[in-house]
Amino acid sequence: MHNQGLSSYHPPERLLLGPGPTNMDARVLAALSRPVIGHLDPSFQEFMEDLKTKLRVVFQTNNAMTLPISAPGSAGMELCLRNLLSPGDTAIICVNGVFGQRMCENVRRADAVCITVEDDWGRPIDPQKLEDTLRKHPEARLVGCVHAETSTGVGSDVRTLASIAHQYDCMIVVDAVTSLGGMELRVDDWELDAVYSGSQKCLGCTPGLSPVTLNERALHYIRNRSEPVRSWFLDVNLLSGYWQPDQRRSYHHTAPVHTLFALHEACILLLNEGLENAWERHAAAHRMLKAALDRCGMEFAVAAECRLPQLNAVRIPDGVNDAEGRARLLQDFNIEVGAGLGVLAGKIWRVGLMGPNACRASIDRLLPALQSLLPG
Ligand SMILES: *Cc1c(COP(=O)(O)O)cnc(C)c1O
Repeated sequence: MHNQGLSSYHPPERLLLGPGPTNMDARVLAALSRPVIGHLDPSFQEFMEDLKTKLRVVFQTNNAMTLPISAPGSAGMELCLRNLLSPGDTAIICVNGVFGQRMCENVRRADAVCITVEDDWGRPIDPQKLEDTLRKHPEARLVGCVHAETSTGVGSDVRTLASIAHQYDCMIVVDAVTSLGGMELRVDDWELDAVYSGSQKCLGCTPGLSPVTLNERALHYIRNRSEPVRSWFLDVNLLSGYWQPDQRRSYHHTAPVHTLFALHEACILLLNEGLENAWERHAAAHRMLKAALDRCGMEFAVAAECRLPQLNAVRIPDGVNDAEGRARLLQDFNIEVGAGLGVLAGKIWRVGLMGPNACRASIDRLLPALQSLLPG
């Protein structure tokens, strides 16, 4: 045993222009150094109610069951699929990238049957294909889809997908991890039954929380399940004993109080700005990125009509090596961009402009860094 190497860890200051996490506003960072408080303290209980109220506005919903799960976005995905499926149920999952595939894996691990509606990586989900699949599978109970597919930079029309799912009497689960706060999302108007997100993307908060919202239809199913949810930690019936004021606020798990403080602060910043204004700021940053790429002779990898403003799939320019290029951005410029995944590995970089990074200053730092990589 030795006690060498006891210096604190101070990470380098990176500009995080990848698929998340993104940089945090100083106010969000400051919230992380406030005093510790017990997770059952009366003051904390008031805070929980306020945080839930703010999350409802962010999600554009009146759903009573709107709460942050104490784990990252993937836990929100698992919560929705585990609670809304029972073994033997059939779910139809729309897949056009990594996160659709991850939903399928979750369906299978819930011992449910997974039918896929597939589109090419880099294309949105075709609503007609969903309708055809629903017609072929009248036994299906649930549809899952990703609003903003972070692996490809493509947005799908979840409002239309939801209305089709409902015509066939299916509930819809929507992955809004990368969309919440960065583009239009209206849970109630679009009649989305279960939606999960993540704290570290367009909300500009620390990684580690998954805001989730469930409507009455989803809750009705969960409360009347014939067998318990096959996850103790993510069982909504148990979680509501802690998060819902009409219950006794009994101990379920120790809530990560500081990350919740940070999320609360991030919501304040977002609501102060106004949701619509934040969506427009992300769109404006995307247009600035396009102008910068034009100046470098670089191109987007997906069609204009389905591009996400907050996650840009950019073709790696000819003559530039994928890993070397990203390493130089990181080492020489302290800028992180994301690698391509799956079939897009080695072909694209994923440039995130999320939360506080959706601004002119990000583009002004990225443009000269990209230019320095170009051959000639
Ligand atoms: C990041 C992401 C997730 C997973 O979130 P984690 O916080 O990494 O668990 C799920 N879906 C989409 C679309 C994402 O971008």
